[in-house]
Order: sequence, then structure tokens, then C-alpha cells
Amino acid sequence: MPVESIFHRLEALLPKVQKPIQYVGGELNSTVKDWDSADVRWALMYPDAYEVGLPNQGVAILYEILNELPGTLAERTYTVWPDLEALMRAEGVPQFTVDAHRPVRAFDVLGVSFSTELGYTNMLTALDLAGIPMLAVDRGEDDPIVLAGGHAAFNPEPVADFLDAAVLGDGEQISIAITEVIREWKAEGRPGGRDELLMRLAESGGVYVPKFYDVDYHPDGRIKRVAPNRADVPWRVHKHTVMDLDEWPYPKKPLVPLAETVHERFSVEIFRGCTRGCRFCQAGMITRPVRERSITTIGAMVEKGVKESGFNEVGLLSLSSADHSEIADVAKGLADRYEGTNTSLSLPSTRVDAFNIDLANEFSRNGRRSGLTFAPEGGSERMRKVINKMVTEEDLIRTVTTAYSQGWRQVKLYFMCGLPTEQDEDVLGIGDLAKKVIKAGREATGSRDIRCTVSIGGFVPKPHTPFQWAGQADHETVDRRLKALRDSLRGDKQYGRAIGFRYHDGKPSIVEGMLSRGDRRVGAVIRAVWEDGGRFDGWSEHFSYDRWMAAAEKAGVDVDWYTTREREENEVLPWDHLDAGLDREWLWQDWQEAVSGGEVEDCRWTPCYDCGVCPTMGTEIQIGPTGRKLLPLTVV
Ligand code: SF4
Repeated sequence: MPVESIFHRLEALLPKVQKPIQYVGGELNSTVKDWDSADVRWALMYPDAYEVGLPNQGVAILYEILNELPGTLAERTYTVWPDLEALMRAEGVPQFTVDAHRPVRAFDVLGVSFSTELGYTNMLTALDLAGIPMLAVDRGEDDPIVLAGGHAAFNPEPVADFLDAAVLGDGEQISIAITEVIREWKAEGRPGGRDELLMRLAESGGVYVPKFYDVDYHPDGRIKRVAPNRADVPWRVHKHTVMDLDEWPYPKKPLVPLAETVHERFSVEIFRGCTRGCRFCQAGMITRPVRERSITTIGAMVEKGVKESGFNEVGLLSLSSADHSEIADVAKGLADRYEGTNTSLSLPSTRVDAFNIDLANEFSRNGRRSGLTFAPEGGSERMRKVINKMVTEEDLIRTVTTAYSQGWRQVKLYFMCGLPTEQDEDVLGIGDLAKKVIKAGREATGSRDIRCTVSIGGFVPKPHTPFQWAGQADHETVDRRLKALRDSLRGDKQYGRAIGFRYHDGKPSIVEGMLSRGDRRVGAVIRAVWEDGGRFDGWSEHFSYDRWMAAAEKAGVDVDWYTTREREENEVLPWDHLDAGLDREWLWQDWQEAVSGGEVEDCRWTPCYDCGVCPTMGTEIQIGPTGRKLLPLTVV
């Protein structure tokens, strides 16, 4: 039976809302398939507004892969703004996809990609508007399987009650595997109903189904154990790793948004994973090992993507793009190809060395000389050792001096506040570093027209990192240190005016901390916040700390216990049954070394230091050089 579009009902509401164009779909390269041509149908959600969700690579990749699969269709859905939400409730219009405006509840799967935990309340809005029961236990045979992915899914316990399933790691292959399990089960006449489908997904150990695991607690609140409650369900669920990125050259046809979005460019992921070993970095830890896309595939993807989309900016993405073994050839090859055209290249540079400046020069050949960003993360040498970010002050000053002397006028430095073992002087050290940067720039150029912006984020300890045991700094401490830093910068007559200062207060980090390292008991807080009107918690204008604290109190959840409390080595952590491949003992050892000042090298260039990922996951580091070069395009 075809499912009707709800567009005629939505259309009447659009003149009354902000940015109605974000809800109409029809973007270049979007896909609408005949409902009956598919027997497995996915609604893919990025739980934020269209302007943030549309450029998301994870959703874009799965959207294409699933739509290429015969008998399968995928459409996208985003969080609607509160103005439209109110009208949809008043008029009984359900959560819809932007592609064909079909009701989300009609799909087989609602796949939600969580980059951050602050999107949890937005998922609840979508479930509620869709008419899908909020709790997984209340869902019936006609409801979609609600499936989470993305980095936050490496600890989905706080939203376990709202999810039917979660997937860890790369989505390309597992989304196809899930599709085939659903297809087979439907073709067999849905034996055993929803429960059997979830069992089929859980049995392999590749899909986590929270309801098949029971959590027992000690009287003091710590977890005693997490154990499967069915015989065929494995004790641990493993992450997925795509081993040959060249076999998955997606996106091939990038979506071109109709409304304004946060990034308007064609992004190519040049490698996945990072083994630099920054101890705070969950993305680096959970995406190991490094797997490079070859220079020739990158070249072919850029050529095709630009042609298919008309974007005039190409972003080369990864966790640390300058680390690609052939980045110099990639940069030069692409800059040569597109010289004299209106296609410019961008590279998020985070490594602090002179090589980055050569690259930045290559990339600015055909574009604007916008700011350069570096991320020393810690304000003092001691702090950078603790987090294993091996950047010396000398490196930084040398790099920025080169940048300023080659015509760059603006440098942005990114730091964190609230890191483990941090003292007031570590944060004040950020100011000293910024002043030295300005001084070096003025000396190198003989000009006072030099700027440096210091941007500071609050540190949140994350699961599957060496800091997963750490006590988070309370928001009062973070705010006090940031205020002292701001005062010291403002009071500096010589350099203060040349230094921009951007930071957030410490409160959102506490909420993020509770959600990141929370367990199933935190679900009641998320629900209470949502019921109290909590929406778009990642947006400072919508976020309310007081609302979260009131909800925690109502749910009997002690926020400090989840955030500022340091954990013991043998405490069962809520995500211990979810396997990112990292050896727990290695993580603990690395945490001890952080405190004692030990450093870890990058295993790309030094021997394997046994973090556990490769033997556990059957993976290996895949890097070049391939020795190949990019050829000029015949027709640009
Ligand atoms: S197992 Fe060894 S080679 Fe693989 S990511 Fe860990 S340290 Fe690197």
C-alpha cells in the first residue's frame, strides 16, 4: 500500500513558520523512490535542525548507499523548530521526511545519528510527533525499529529505554546487513514479530539491543553487572570497521541544500581513524585504526562530486587531515587542477608544524586566505603532556611566525578548560601563549595588524578514552579559571586588544558529562527535561541548565555522582559491554601515565603499542604512500 504524502497538510503551516524552505525537500541529488518499489524503508534522522543536519556526512553516506540498494529506500528527517512543532501538534501533522513528506512512523527503521548527546531530547520530539511510543517496551508491530548510530552510540545507555537498537562504528556495511535481515524476516511473513527481528539483529553481536541486557546495581549505585537475558545474545557487542575506504567512495552525489546550512561545500573524507593518542579524544579512540583513502580515489571523488553538485568549495575531512601520508601531493594535485577556476579547497588544519603552512599556502592558491586554526588544546607544556598532545611552545611559535610572515593575519587557537589535573596556572598559560603568538607575529611582519583568537571549550570525559575514569571539573572551577584568563587578557595593554576570546560557561559541559557517562537511570532525566519543554539542547539560546538540574532532582539522579566523581579501576562502567576494540587495561595504564607524565607515540610511525583494537577487530593500519600522483583534468 502506498503511503500518502502529508505535504498538503504541512504546506498550510509553512507561511506561519521561520525558514519554511528547510521543510520542502527537493534538493539537488535528493532521491524519491516509489514506496512500493521497496520492501525495506529507512527514515534517517539527524537530530538537529536542517541547517546542521543536512551537511552531516554520516547521514549523507547512508542515504546514498541505502537508496542504491535494490528494494530499499531511504529518506531524511530533521528536528523541526519549536514554531512548527507547535503547529504540527495543533493540526495533528506527524513527523515527516523531507524527501517525499511521508510519515516517519510508516518506515521500517528510524535510524538516528548522534554526533553529540545534546541531541537526545530532539529524538524524543521526533518520536512523539511521529506517534511512535517513546519507550521501546511500549512499541507495537507497526512501529519502526528505532536505531541509534554515531559517536554517542558508543554509550547509548542513557537513551537505552527509548531505543530498540544501536550500532557502533562505521555504518556502510552494517546498514546493508541490517536491511537484509529485515528483508528476509518480512519475506518470511514476519515470524515471531518485532521481538524475533530484534533477536535476529542481536544474535550476531553486531547490533546492540538494550532490552536483551539487564543491568544490576550495587546498593551504593555503582553497576554490578550488565548481562544478556537471552541465551543466544552475546555478552559483548562489537563495533564495525570498514577496511577499504576506496570501495566506499561516498558521497558520490552530494546533497545541495535549498536553505542556508552550516557548511556549504563538498566534503571528502580522506581517511578515517586517528592514532595520535590524544587522551581526551573519543573520536580518535573509537575510530581506530587509521585507514587512508588513496590519492586517486580522493581525486576521482572530488572531480565527480564537484560536477554533480556545483559546489565551489571542497573540504578534505578527517580527524587530522594533514596526517594523510600523501597530503602534500593531494593538495598540490588538486590546487593545480582547479587553479583559475572558482573551485577552492579547504583543510581543517589542527596540527601545529611548518608543514601545515605549506599546505595552507597550496590551498589558498585558488581561494581566500581565511584564518588558520591550530589546536594546542592545553595552555601549558605540562597540560599538553597529560593529554598527550605533543606540541611544544616552540613548535607553535615557529608555525605561527611562518604563517604571519607569509601573509596570514589571523590565527585561531583552540583550547580546553577543565582537563584532568588542571591548575589555575595551566589556564592562565593560554593567555601567555596567545601574547607570545602576537609578539612573534608583530616581529615577523613589522606590523601591529596581527590577530589571534583564543577559543575555549569545556572538557567532558568520554567513554572509551583513558579519561573515562576521570572526575570532571565542576562548572564553578571552569568559570573561575576562564574569568581569570579573560581578566588577564583584557587587562593587558600591550597585547589584549589583538587577542579575541571566545568561550562558553561550564554548565553545558556538566549536562553533556552526565549524558556521556550516564547509565540507564539518566533516561528519566532526559525524559523529564523533554516533558518540561527541553529542545535543541546543543543551542545555547535553547539550553537551560536549571531545567536539567530540576529534572535530575525530580528523577533522583545525583549529577555530581555522574560527572565530578572519579571512578575506580574495577568499577563496571555503563559501556563496558560495548566493544570499541580498546583493551581496558591499556586504557587504564594510559590514564595512569597521563597523571605521571608518560607519552604515547603515534603507532603509524612507531611500533604497535597494543591498544588492542587491531587484534580484537581483525583490522590493521592502512596508510600510503601509494606513490601515485593526481593527473590534471582534461576538462575543468
Ligand atoms: S593495535 Fe597497535 S597498530 Fe592497531 S591501532 Fe592499536 S596501537 Fe595502533
